[in-house]
Amino acid sequence: MERQELYRERNTQVLLSKFLSGELSELEPVYDPKVGYRYPVVEGIVGDAEKPEVFLNKLFEAGILERNLYDKVILCPKCGTANISVHYCCPYCKSFNIQKSSLVEHVKCGYMDVEENFRKGGKLVCPKCREELKRPDVDYRRAGIWCTCKDCGKSFDIPVTALFCRNCHTNFTLEDATIRDAYSYTLKEKAKGEAPSGWMIIAPIRDFLVENGFEVESPAFLKGKSGANHMFDVAAYKGENKQNVIVIDLASSTENVVSEQPVIALFAKIFDVSPESAYLIAIPKLGENGKKMAGLYNIQIVEARNQKEAVKAIKERIAE
Ligand SMILES: [Zn+2]
Ligand SMILES: [Zn+2]
Ligand SMILES: [Zn+2]
Repeated sequence: MERQELYRERNTQVLLSKFLSGELSELEPVYDPKVGYRYPVVEGIVGDAEKPEVFLNKLFEAGILERNLYDKVILCPKCGTANISVHYCCPYCKSFNIQKSSLVEHVKCGYMDVEENFRKGGKLVCPKCREELKRPDVDYRRAGIWCTCKDCGKSFDIPVTALFCRNCHTNFTLEDATIRDAYSYTLKEKAKGEAPSGWMIIAPIRDFLVENGFEVESPAFLKGKSGANHMFDVAAYKGENKQNVIVIDLASSTENVVSEQPVIALFAKIFDVSPESAYLIAIPKLGENGKKMAGLYNIQIVEARNQKEAVKAIKERIAE
């Protein structure tokens, strides 16, 4: 039920139409050092009305979107920025001015030391037995890291981590940090089947009508003279008195031709509702009978092979 409600929302329809049309296969967050991750595509859809994360989470919880953990963002506890650097520090004096080296072990004689002490020109030579080490994992192996503090001079193998805010210069620890998950999103298979494919067409038409000063409902329920409510895929009108009413229905056929049935259905509805103009979008095309009837009933036909053509054609016709 909750999903059905979300499907009726314009924002859901616009985002899903991007997935359904293939414009978007996976919604990935984009890194912004100030705030962490952002979703510019979603920002463009929801505007200031809602936080993109809140909107996406709603679709995730309703089972429309699938999410995958993409990254984790550390936020400064003082200023909230995501512009954080990780410092590896000396466990004795806490200075982050440390030098990291690799430990190297000569397999044959067992001597172990930091890599710098093995370096002789471009070669690795054992300082104890003077043998050259050529083959990694055979002559020698790397045995972890070894750090030296440049401030207090002590050495250690495991540094402690500290966090530094590049914005407000606060030093803090993991204990005080806020860690936020960032997700990438895909459309659930189930939602692909549930979402009417007509949205790919309806969402951009809807936006076009809104830009041109119309109030738009989709799907729309209009009351006729008989008192009955009729559903249209899109209804648009101007002003409070609902003037210049335009109704649009969509009919598509998996075969080559759309039958006259949707023309008859649309006629029955407009006979009762009396809109200013009525359009039927037929994908890919309308049969001859349907065309004749549409002419008689004063229904404007827009034929299009695909989503893109349909949107372009109906925009041109309405603009006329
Ligand atoms: Zn800060
Ligand atoms: Zn130190
Ligand atoms: Zn050796």
